[in-house]
Amino acid sequence: MDIIKENKNICIDCKSRLELLQEAMNLSITENALLSRPRRVITFGIPVRMDNGEVSVFNAYRVQYNNALGPTKGGIRYHPDVDLEEVKTLAFLMALKCSLAGLPFGGAKGGVEVDPTKLSKGELERLTRGYVREIHQLIGPNIDVPAPDVNTNAEVMAWFVDEYSKIKGEFLPGVVTGKPIILGGSEGREEATALGGAFVLKRYMEKIRGSKKNNKKPITVAIQGFGNVGGNLGKILDDWGHKIVAASDADGGIYKSTGLDIKSVCNTKDSRCKLHEMKNVKRISNEELLQLPVDVLIPAALSKQITVKNADKIKAKTIIEMANAPISEEADKILADKKITVIPDVLANSGGVIVSYFEWVQNSDNHYWSKDKVNEMLKEKIEKAFDNVFELSQKTKDSIRISAYSLAIRRILNAEKLRGTIG
Ligand code: GLU
Repeated sequence: MDIIKENKNICIDCKSRLELLQEAMNLSITENALLSRPRRVITFGIPVRMDNGEVSVFNAYRVQYNNALGPTKGGIRYHPDVDLEEVKTLAFLMALKCSLAGLPFGGAKGGVEVDPTKLSKGELERLTRGYVREIHQLIGPNIDVPAPDVNTNAEVMAWFVDEYSKIKGEFLPGVVTGKPIILGGSEGREEATALGGAFVLKRYMEKIRGSKKNNKKPITVAIQGFGNVGGNLGKILDDWGHKIVAASDADGGIYKSTGLDIKSVCNTKDSRCKLHEMKNVKRISNEELLQLPVDVLIPAALSKQITVKNADKIKAKTIIEMANAPISEEADKILADKKITVIPDVLANSGGVIVSYFEWVQNSDNHYWSKDKVNEMLKEKIEKAFDNVFELSQKTKDSIRISAYSLAIRRILNAEKLRGTIG
């Protein structure tokens, strides 16, 4: 009974996600207690000497949610809205994502409450090095392995690995993934999340369309968020002959019913797509983009974009969650009532962490693979995860999200049982 009374440390959002599974999984009180709170939460302040000579202290977090399957794994985000509850949920989702993809990793997430656009490059570097100094004893290639997330990238990972290696006195590239290739990064990691999402979408279309002839028919797509994930996915789907009719970034969106000319704004040197430079398009808001009557809607920006406020106005037939947690729990129910299929984040955007795993393996072997090999192995792994989930959902008639969560949690609990933690 003590377990039930002890509600401290609970991840409220994770607990309610677990409740959705109750019918499908019948989790015991102990299993619920184990899964509804993170194993380790680190909150800390990072003092940073700013360019003007003054010191600012930033709130920072690292949540290591579950490590039954192996070292914990997950990105670090820099964003003004970062808070502990959100980081806990994102760490929980990472645990499910790694499990579902069959990786030997647990789940974690980190974040710093900061608006990185207001910091100079030097300040960002000192902030990152400060983050490492505060938690270096609690991370490591076999403990917890961070990676890029919202507003962090290969350059940030390079500072990270440099600071960590200096503290430890040896080069330890496996402490983070998503590094520049010259510092032990993997070919294909940059585009991996997008490519994984494209493979998932293709597989899903093959399953629901069946016949070969039908498979070739282009689909109409709207993408919210055109950064690394959304932009690369837009490029891939455009290359595959699909019609990207709308796209948006923080400055707003653009729309053209006959399809946007993605190549004209994406082939820039810095690989960023400059949406605002596109000619002959209609300007739309992010909100309008979400409500377009397209075959596939792809939220690839931040969390909680589809909520009770707009869920009943969504007209897409399918939603692929490329951002983490872009749909609120209540909105998910509304979408299900409207018979809109949602391919959840833990499956759709797992390409990033799958190739992170390949990077980590290459670091420990000191042997590096070609891009073709990485992409081929990504395809194999993500299609297998998709097939397992789809098959289960066909059998049980549960949603793809419930099926994905069940498979992921079953694997984590099996590992916990074999370790002797429970059961
Ligand atoms: N931040 C990415 C995610 O949410 C990648 C995590 C990783 O590679 O560890 O999946």
